[in-house]
Amino acid sequence: MKQTFAVIGLGRFGGSLLESLIAADQEVLAIDNNPALVENYMDVATHAVIADAQDEDALRDLDLPSFDHVIVAIGHNQQASILTTILLKDMGVRHVVAKAENNLHARVLDKVGADQVVRPEHEMAQRLAEQIMTPNLINYIDLGDKHSLGEIKIANLKFANKTISELNIRKNYGLNVIAIKSQGRVVVAPESSEMIQIGDVLTVVGESVDVKHFESLVE
Ligand code: ADP
Repeated sequence: MKQTFAVIGLGRFGGSLLESLIAADQEVLAIDNNPALVENYMDVATHAVIADAQDEDALRDLDLPSFDHVIVAIGHNQQASILTTILLKDMGVRHVVAKAENNLHARVLDKVGADQVVRPEHEMAQRLAEQIMTPNLINYIDLGDKHSLGEIKIANLKFANKTISELNIRKNYGLNVIAIKSQGRVVVAPESSEMIQIGDVLTVVGESVDVKHFESLVE
């Protein structure tokens, strides 16, 4: 489904975000106070305008409350990022996502009403660190209350060519296998007789410590 987005600030982050949204066939209004940057995105974005986001009248003229999402991708100029976020929330924009440069900036954006605050470098670095430390944990979702869901790649022969019941995953590792991805095929809610091969990806649910422990065993 098509949604409408406005991206304010066409630096590295705002520009990449805009390109991803356009590639996903969404409608994107691009805004920056730097005419050269707006010029760059003129043919990429659905519309591109030169505007100072700290100027309330200029913001009002853009009718931003009619957009589904407005992303404040101004980073270095923290004053502009904070003022823009306040103005957007005051004028009734439903969903404001704001990019923070650091922890304090993030706290301020949260306090002034941003619906979502992102710290791309920080979040990407954390994810990369996790990926390097746990290469077989392909995906991880914290479900809250000490439970999580993990997608774990089987890379250890000890676990290969055995069925779920032979491995007794629930009893031995405290986990429920809810899906197995094997050579492009996905088996949802697999029977206990399902065979596991090297390279298969198991989707498991359980206590977070058990998910992490299992991941450390399959290497
Ligand atoms: P990145 O690290 O993603 O490159 P920057 O903070 O360097 O982010 O870039 C932010 C962009 O926001 C710049 O292109 C800058 O011109 C733009 N910008 C800064 N202040 C304003 C403002 N008041 N109104 C509109 N755009 C702004």
